[in-house]
Amino acid sequence: MTVFDNYDLSARNTFRMKVRCARFVEYDSAEELEALDFGALPQPVLAMGGGSNLLFTGDFPGTVLHGRIGGIRVAAETPDGGVLVEAGAGVVFDDLCAWAAARGLWGLENLSLIPGEVGAAAVQNIGAYGVEFKDVAVEVRCLEVATCARRTFRVEECAYGYRESLFKRPEVKGRYIVLSVLLRLSRAATPRLDYGNIRAALGTDAPAGPADVREAVIRIRNAKLPDPAEKGSAGSFFKNPVIPQEHFARIEALTRAELGPEATVPHYDAGGMVKVPAAWMIERLGFKGLKAGNAAVWEKQPLVLVNDTGAAAPEEILALERRIIDAVQEKYGIELHPEVEHI
Ligand SMILES: Cc1cc2nc3c(=O)[nH]c(=O)nc-3n(C[C@H](O)[C@H](O)[C@H](O)COP(=O)(O)OP(=O)(O)OC[C@H]3O[C@@H](n4cnc5c(N)ncnc54)[C@H](O)[C@@H]3O)c2cc1C
Repeated sequence: MTVFDNYDLSARNTFRMKVRCARFVEYDSAEELEALDFGALPQPVLAMGGGSNLLFTGDFPGTVLHGRIGGIRVAAETPDGGVLVEAGAGVVFDDLCAWAAARGLWGLENLSLIPGEVGAAAVQNIGAYGVEFKDVAVEVRCLEVATCARRTFRVEECAYGYRESLFKRPEVKGRYIVLSVLLRLSRAATPRLDYGNIRAALGTDAPAGPADVREAVIRIRNAKLPDPAEKGSAGSFFKNPVIPQEHFARIEALTRAELGPEATVPHYDAGGMVKVPAAWMIERLGFKGLKAGNAAVWEKQPLVLVNDTGAAAPEEILALERRIIDAVQEKYGIELHPEVEHI
């Protein structure tokens, strides 16, 4: 275990905010974590992975905990081609995707290249190209901070939804630290190619293996999203709003009045409601590529706010966020909510 006081977090968050925490503790095993005297740590305590979904709004007065629990292993195989895989919470999620693809195991290929670690994937219910973490999850194994007891949650108990989970609920948040996850992957081919332009990037309906789909997903993502190594960001900054049909009809009418009767508004069915891409609204409002001091809206994907020069202060990101929320509210009557967690 390593412990630092007054620790610089700038290399630990993909937004590259230059902030510090009072203490930084890095543990290598569940036993080391159990042995910690949580009550004696500077409060509050934040479990952190790769810091790729966080916006630090200033110095953090408490303790940041980071786990290095590694390991990927096949726990069991089933006669129908199912392969149960256990992965430590500290494994880089994309390393797990690469591991599975290299062994011909289906299930994770559409989630390739999402930054961050396995523990956070279970908290966030990460998703991309029509697949979410919950689709492959079997169990999430945790430590309960208050009692230091181990607790295993079956996937049905995790209350997974669109970037939602039991672990994010206000009454549960911070109570559990993920130690490992159990996933069900498959030797039988289960390609999911209907979302986005995977099929076009792949150039076939019949990929030879998950590695082909993984490569196509990586190509699409690299063309659209900023590389965290080069441009600070936390990925999609806002959630896509879900609105009633009548509200959507008003937005469509407004758009047709502006652009002509043939104009369409992109949308997806969301169980009787309508999901509208926040990126479309942000682009319509002219924010795509907009620079605001050291912050900017990413020129290739307006849902992403970036630390454009590398020197953005949290206040600059927050001010740009506010401008976008206000503009969308004023024009479309929709309140955008951040997907990125503000700390
Ligand atoms: C360029 C870019 C692209 C992205 N694309 C996508 C995408 O396509 N889809 C998507 O879903 N997300 C995407 N993201 C967001 C991000 O990658 C995910 O949310 C990811 O799961 C965060 O992982 P992390 O390890 O960095 O977690 P962190 O940001 O460190 O933490 C996220 C949350 O998880 C909690 N947490 C972390 N580890 C643990 C643990 N062991 N136990 C309990 N709680 C824990 C933290 O307290 C926090 O609440 C993107 C981000 C970037 C920068």
